[in-house]
Amino acid sequence: MIENQKNALETIISLLKERGASSVVRINVADIVVDERVRLKCRVPLCDSYHRNLMCPPYVPTVAEFREALNRYSMAILLQVSAELEKPYANALSEEVFVPAKKLHELIHFGEKEAFAGGFRFAAGFIGGCCRLCDECVAVDGGTRCRFPFKARPSMEAVGIDVMATAEKVGLSIDAFPISNRVTWTGLILL
Ligand code: SF4
Repeated sequence: MIENQKNALETIISLLKERGASSVVRINVADIVVDERVRLKCRVPLCDSYHRNLMCPPYVPTVAEFREALNRYSMAILLQVSAELEKPYANALSEEVFVPAKKLHELIHFGEKEAFAGGFRFAAGFIGGCCRLCDECVAVDGGTRCRFPFKARPSMEAVGIDVMATAEKVGLSIDAFPISNRVTWTGLILL
């Protein structure tokens, strides 16, 4: 990593923390756990975003394609946004569960843009869960043209990343399922 990339990385990490990330860590790509079973779980049982969100399977790169591209990277930023829930999980997820997910998406987009400007020309961001930029994705009606192609990012899980194993490997905690009174969303920026 050249000197100005090193400085840019430190600045990005500070900015992400200032803007609301609960945790931000620089990680080695070797610590990213990819497992075909994660993608399998998009279909077994069938996730309600499968084929209904352009940032989820089958629209995103396959696990094999992702592994191949991942081999070309050496480091990344893993970040989390956590929040206490006023209404603990009962039988269904409340809207407040997704408020930090939106914040995470915003930070991933921002961090990726800053990384690109800082000399990481292959910077690529991944969010947690499906893209929620629109109330309803165009894919629900069979559309394939994203309304916000420069803002939408795929989910980590969609390309086969085992988010829990990756977070644990680098010393970040992750709230276990089912969600109770706290929620944590995790995202990744490949550098
Ligand atoms: S930005 Fe909208 S149309 Fe594009 S993937 Fe996200 S939800 Fe779908």
